Amino acid sequence: MANTSQKRILVTGGSGLVGQGIRTVAEKDPRADEEFIFLSSKDADLTDRNATKVAFEKYKPTHVIHLAAKVGGLYGNMRANLQFFRINMAINENVLSVSKELGVKKVVSCLSTCIFPDKTTYPIDEKMIHNGPPHTSNYGYSYAKRMIDVMNTGYNQQYGTNFTAVVPTNVFGPFDNFNLEEGHVLPGLIHKVYKCKENNTPLTVWGTGRARRQFIYSLDLGRLFLWVLREYEETEPIILSVGEEEEISIKEAAELVVKGFDFKGELIYDTTRSDGQYKKTASNEKLRKYLPEFKFTPIDQAIRETCQWFSSNYETARV
Ligand code: NAP
Ligand code: GDP
Repeated sequence: MANTSQKRILVTGGSGLVGQGIRTVAEKDPRADEEFIFLSSKDADLTDRNATKVAFEKYKPTHVIHLAAKVGGLYGNMRANLQFFRINMAINENVLSVSKELGVKKVVSCLSTCIFPDKTTYPIDEKMIHNGPPHTSNYGYSYAKRMIDVMNTGYNQQYGTNFTAVVPTNVFGPFDNFNLEEGHVLPGLIHKVYKCKENNTPLTVWGTGRARRQFIYSLDLGRLFLWVLREYEETEPIILSVGEEEEISIKEAAELVVKGFDFKGELIYDTTRSDGQYKKTASNEKLRKYLPEFKFTPIDQAIRETCQWFSSNYETARV
């Protein structure tokens, strides 16, 4: 007889930063009742519904971690808001509708604190996601991501599915997108400092350095994602973040990368570049109610490990 508690977990976007974080954690502590399948865009273009259905029919997942998305840092988003909206709307529509059609038991999708309202009080919690427009720099990505929450509520209400989502802050770690123009701030700075050290040139940080962010290491996020998949039963999303007191300025983040590489050169701030949203301070109170003992990797250690990973993998990293 088929073992009904056996989980086949399909991870869309499994080749990216967050997917690789989940893979590392899952492989370190494998469970007999869980089998993981990590998809990349080469396995299926999830903007195409037919290709999505073919992939899901092939792997027959009982559970889905849905990460696949067009993802970029501030400057990538500013250049292509329409594409961020259309591609992510298409991927999310296809993944959720096919999951419902094929009877997937649980889907955990991925939102972001980037989608939070711009004009707001702080800290922001899970109930405030839709309270006002997002920052203008990334409205395309933000509105597409917010619609996942709308769809999760609708599917669960109308069809009794178990669809939910997590809301991570700015993620970094091995396998990130280190492309300078398209990627996020930490992989961008890591790539830049690596080059500055090689060429003996100053480091240019974009913006004033005053914007503030909470960062989460992809391996910590991997551990939290697996907990959500196994234990979390609410429809309402859950913010996965370090505490408010661990929010740092971009200047402090740049200094940690400088330390991570032991870079001795000068730092320059290019204030002709946008700072983006000044801050998006998220509350992790709900997470702490569930997991009061969870320990995040100290940020200096996590950045140092990522600098080391980038140096060792420069030839194959996404740059
Ligand atoms: P990433 O490294 O850029 O990975 C994106 C993943 O999506 C890759 O596996 C990519 O496949 C896949 N993908 C992209 N377009 C696809 C398509 N049309 N069809 C199928 N697969 C496609 O991004 P990430 O940082 O890991 O992000 C994963 C999730 O976390 C996203 O939903 C993102 O919104 C969310 N998130 C990220 C951050 C952050 O700071 N990075 C913060 C909060 C939330 P290929 O490798 O084949 O291209
Ligand atoms: P966000 O958190 O969604 O706004 O996106 P990012 O991860 O791209 O962070 C953007 C913030 O980092 C802005 O305040 C930028 O001015 C600042 N920043 C400084 N240097 C860089 C860099 O080299 N790349 C990127 N993407 N941002 C940088």
